Amino acid sequence: MLLLDGKATAQTVREELKKIIATAISAGRRPPGLAVILAGEDPASQVYVRNKEFACTHVGIYVETCRLPESVTEAEVVRCIDRFNQRSDIDGILVQLPLPKHIRPSICLLAIDPAKDVDGFHPENAGKLTLGLPGLRPCTPQGIIELLRRYGLSPRGKKAVVVGRSNIVGKPLAILLAEPLEYANATVTLCHSETCNLANECRQADFLFLAVGKPRFFTASMVREGSVVIDVGINRTPAGLCGDADFEGLKDHVSAITPVPGGIGPMTVAMLLKNTVDAWQGRTSASLKKETEISS
Ligand code: NDP
Repeated sequence: MLLLDGKATAQTVREELKKIIATAISAGRRPPGLAVILAGEDPASQVYVRNKEFACTHVGIYVETCRLPESVTEAEVVRCIDRFNQRSDIDGILVQLPLPKHIRPSICLLAIDPAKDVDGFHPENAGKLTLGLPGLRPCTPQGIIELLRRYGLSPRGKKAVVVGRSNIVGKPLAILLAEPLEYANATVTLCHSETCNLANECRQADFLFLAVGKPRFFTASMVREGSVVIDVGINRTPAGLCGDADFEGLKDHVSAITPVPGGIGPMTVAMLLKNTVDAWQGRTSASLKKETEISS
């Protein structure tokens, strides 16, 4: 069994990004900038934001977090986003979810300039993903494809089953996997809580992607022998973090599997950094082009 080490792969991606940034800075360019908006006191969000801040600083991304109280209004969050939209030193804006209950995430996500939407959740970027046009892609699905690519595991022509249809993981992942790209081109089935005979669908998969949020739900009897299992689930249990896959029961049954923790989680953060660097490169080359046009 091949253990797909997301932690080590994410570290490699981060070192690559660090070099790109250092080279640009030594050539006189400003560093990439990421703005994070954190509203409320959700303890898990506090940890996620700290991890993202640490990861950004490590590669040379300037990060600025706007911490807002639980009582903040929707209009205040939108104003905060808009200030970051206007800032020329900020290339990426991330609104940490979940937001306090009285704030609509859809309104906040719509307020982000799509060119700075490093989570890839804005409808414009979701539309571009669906149409196969260039744009910022959601971090978790992108991290999954990148991990497969780095291990040379292509789902091309294979049967891929995605379980979970959320807008941030399952749905965009299913779209990406069906794209005519080297590490995609799969025949995709998207399952959810209304799927009849889920076990039967899962057993058809050469590549099985799990994103439901149910601890150790997928056991060997639901998984084809020799398949590749990508476990996106992160579940807190009294015994610690675990995925949606029954890792112990699957590890001698499958050909490759991601661990939890240390699988898709670190890849997701690495793709946030990559999206920020991509947005920075896109914006600084656009402004360089504008300057050249003005001076010529
Ligand atoms: P959601 O709760 O938004 O979606 C869960 C999906 O699973 C839904 O589509 C739901 O179906 C489906 N589902 C639930 N129960 C079943 C069932 N018994 N059989 C089949 N399908 C089922 O979750 P997210 O997509 O946001 O997250 C999923 C998991 O991934 C969570 O554990 C989350 O913590 C983790 N996660 C990990 C990330 C990472 O970086 N590794 C990033 C984001 C999430 P229906 O639509 O019908 O309700």
